Amino acid sequence: MTATMLDTAARTAYDDDHAMFRDTVRKVLAQHVEPRMEEFDKAKIVPRDVWLAAGEAGMLCPTVAPEYGGLGLDFGYNAIVAEELSYLGCPAGFTLQSDITANYVERLGTEEQKQKYLPGMVSGEVISAIAMTEPGAGSDLQSIRTTAKKDGDDFIINGSKTYITNGQNCDFVIVVAKTDPEGGAKGTSLIVVDTGTPGFEKGRNLDKVGMEAADTSELFFNDVRVPQSNLLGGEGRGFVHLMEELPQERLSIAVSAQASAQRAFDEALAFTKDRQAFGRSVFQFQNTRFTLADIATELQVGWAHLDWALKRHMAKQLTAVEASAAKLWHTEMQNRVADRALQLFGGAGYMNEYHIAKLWRGARVTRIFGGTSEIMKEVISRAI
Ligand SMILES: Cc1cc2nc3c(=O)[nH]c(=O)nc-3n(C[C@H](O)[C@H](O)[C@H](O)COP(=O)(O)OP(=O)(O)OC[C@H]3O[C@@H](n4cnc5c(N)ncnc54)[C@H](O)[C@@H]3O)c2cc1C
Repeated sequence: MTATMLDTAARTAYDDDHAMFRDTVRKVLAQHVEPRMEEFDKAKIVPRDVWLAAGEAGMLCPTVAPEYGGLGLDFGYNAIVAEELSYLGCPAGFTLQSDITANYVERLGTEEQKQKYLPGMVSGEVISAIAMTEPGAGSDLQSIRTTAKKDGDDFIINGSKTYITNGQNCDFVIVVAKTDPEGGAKGTSLIVVDTGTPGFEKGRNLDKVGMEAADTSELFFNDVRVPQSNLLGGEGRGFVHLMEELPQERLSIAVSAQASAQRAFDEALAFTKDRQAFGRSVFQFQNTRFTLADIATELQVGWAHLDWALKRHMAKQLTAVEASAAKLWHTEMQNRVADRALQLFGGAGYMNEYHIAKLWRGARVTRIFGGTSEIMKEVISRAI
């Protein structure tokens, strides 16, 4: 069944060109993604032909400059792709590539690195990942144990990473590693490692509660030798670079969360109008109407806030604290909404054949990845 579409008539973050782009995105998703979502879920990956179709339509890394194969557009175009994918319920790792890794390469990369990776990232021929989290350290990134030791003109990398998005599909990974293990935050650097480099292995495609189609993996580095020219950004500046990217990374998660919450509402509205109990539609019970009224109110506030944050980000004014607050609020709201909407389905809500079940399972992770809700509160409270 074709999903109803996000109503964007009252949005303030977008102009007519954005609207035209959204039409293209919808057509591409309707052709290449929607009919195959079950296949992706079963395979636990979005195959490369879909990445190529997305690239062909300009849906990957739209902000990348034309000299590197991109369209040089604003972040609104990224957000449109994220909204439409999330409304559909497909967790393809396009947003990680467009909103996070491409930015690292374009902003920090040498000319050679940019020429090597960006055109393929835009076309979908090159898939990227970023590996921060380890089995022993996630929120507490300063405790990572992966090391990159200098040896002649090379780095030798040892360690392991986990929960890495695009971990199976990726052609290269931006690895967060300690170049100076005694140097604390100042001893961390970002290093690019290509798939196929001896000693670099992809582990299991992890079995998740939801977002099945996103490949999330372990990665292993055993004496992986790469030239020092694979350093991305400054040596010892890894943490600074990670912090610089936080506003966009966290806003991106907030965007997807809001669109998913809207879909949960739309699903619940359609279901409760159709479902009969005690001689009337479930929608007619006061509890149902009031629940939906509460959710509609949260969504109205959420869209207004999201447009504010998007406009601020496009004007380069959104701070890391504001983006953390956006991530915190939109993801917590998404989870409240998904849970309350599912309740209105009764037993059907617990059946995977109903889309609401998928939305509810998928929602759970958004309060965890990209920094947990607790870490968002730490960041916000420190600025108060
Ligand atoms: C599906 C998925 C995809 C992911 N993709 C990526 C990826 O592409 N790249 C990547 O590097 N990582 C990725 N992650 C990892 C994700 O960012 C981490 O799981 C997350 O940051 C939390 O780290 P952790 O799992 O080690 O939990 P921990 O840090 O061990 O946290 C455990 C609990 O302690 C709490 N806690 C920790 N510190 C504090 C504190 N100071 N105050 C209060 N509470 C605290 C946490 O909030 C949490 O409730 C992904 C994770 C998932 C599930």
